[in-house]
Amino acid sequence: MTTTDVPSPLPTRFPADFKPQPRYPGTCCGCGEQSEFPVPFTMLHFGWNTGHGTCPHCGAALHLMLNIKSQHLLSEPHDIYLKRREATG
Ligand SMILES: [Zn+2]
Repeated sequence: MTTTDVPSPLPTRFPADFKPQPRYPGTCCGCGEQSEFPVPFTMLHFGWNTGHGTCPHCGAALHLMLNIKSQHLLSEPHDIYLKRREATG
C-alpha cells in the first residue's frame, strides 16, 4: 500500500443514486405544476410533517404538509399560512 492508497474515513464522492433526504411529490398551489420536494429525514423522524419550500417552476414560497397516508405533499401559499397561524394563535 502506498501513501495514496490510505483509506479516508469519509467518502470522497457519493454514489450516483445517493439521496441525502427523501423527496415527495407535491403540486404547487400557485402554478399547478407537480414537483418533488425534499423533506429532511430528521423532520419525519421527530414526527414533523410540515415545512417550507419554494416551487422550482414559479418560485412561489410554499408551506408544505406531507400527507403520511398518500405520501403526497399538500401546498398553500406561505403568506396565507402565516395569516392563518396568526388568526388561530
Ligand atoms: Zn409553482
